[in-house]
Amino acid sequence: MKSLFSTIIIITMTLCGYCQSPINSEKLKSKDTFLLKRSPTVIDSLTLDNVIDIKADYWNTAVFNPYRNKKIEFPIRLKFSDSSYSSPITRNKVITSRFGWRNGRGHHGIDIDLITGDSIFSMFDGIVRFAKYSTGHGKTIVIRHYNGLETVYAHLSKYAVKANDTIKQGQYIGHGGASGNARGSHLHLGIYHQGIAIYPEYLFEFGKNNNIRAKEIWITKKWTLAYLHNSKKQSVLNLFATKKEAQVAHKREKKIYTVKRGDTLSRIALRNNTSITSICKTNYIKSSSVLKIGQKLIIK
Ligand SMILES: [Zn+2]
Repeated sequence: MKSLFSTIIIITMTLCGYCQSPINSEKLKSKDTFLLKRSPTVIDSLTLDNVIDIKADYWNTAVFNPYRNKKIEFPIRLKFSDSSYSSPITRNKVITSRFGWRNGRGHHGIDIDLITGDSIFSMFDGIVRFAKYSTGHGKTIVIRHYNGLETVYAHLSKYAVKANDTIKQGQYIGHGGASGNARGSHLHLGIYHQGIAIYPEYLFEFGKNNNIRAKEIWITKKWTLAYLHNSKKQSVLNLFATKKEAQVAHKREKKIYTVKRGDTLSRIALRNNTSITSICKTNYIKSSSVLKIGQKLIIK
């Protein structure tokens, strides 16, 4: 009798709308309410400002980058509902290599020191999009998040999740290691948006507080091209809070020159109204460096 009474109370409260849903439905817009009805599992762990069905487009668990043929418009807008992320490791984050140019090629993530067997955790809520061996990256987990970002955890020694698993922020996902092309054990952490690698430190501070630099960040092309950065030192960060600021900066950003047959540094400098010293300094090359056809140079 007592339990029947409780059931009636609960049903009455639900019908009257008093029962507190985990999500404040007043904050949801009409589109979001539709999603809530249609897909409660997606809504459970979402970031309210960014309600999207993250499996709707380019969801492929077999390839590292399913966005290969997608045309991306710059600047890219990123939104975060929180001011911090969950650290992918428990120890202090010691960065051993940054996003940028390294040994004549691009390094599209940030390397964080660890010991093989250390636990790895997801930085945000999301769904595992890829959990398998990838050339160079070794054992790799890619998690897609509700604001459109994908975080990549590479060189792992063990998977604790599989593709299509729903993940909570801070959830244990595997062990760190040195699988694939890694000199010593470390976590290669990549931050991608629709297949485009983003300079991780432009978005996140890798200190103790795990700060996200802003709730809204506009990404210009500069923060997605490894050859504009040096993997040995952090680039000077200037964040854009509005689309207009980002568009202005985008126009001003450095030119990229592709080396052609017969080019020399002096000829390139002359044609581009700059100096050999400036080209060498910007591109971390020596004036005696041999240029290769097709090589990209940044012209300031
Ligand atoms: Zn790396």
